[in-house]
Amino acid sequence: MKNNIKRRSENKRVLCLPMVSNIPSGCEGWKKTACPVCGRECWITPRHAEELAKEPEIKMACTECAMRSVFR
Ligand SMILES: [Zn+2]
Repeated sequence: MKNNIKRRSENKRVLCLPMVSNIPSGCEGWKKTACPVCGRECWITPRHAEELAKEPEIKMACTECAMRSVFR
């Protein structure tokens, strides 16, 4: 399931952000942000930050919003 989400989000160029409610303590280097779709707290990982730097137009969404394919 994780692989599906990843592949789908890459095709649509949507960064899938892990949700704070799923991973309350996060990991080293992760930064809290709000999902631009639903406004809930999620994490930006260093990998996401890299993608954003390369492609500032890229969209972001928390795992739940990405799964609902709101950008379709
Ligand atoms: Zn969301």
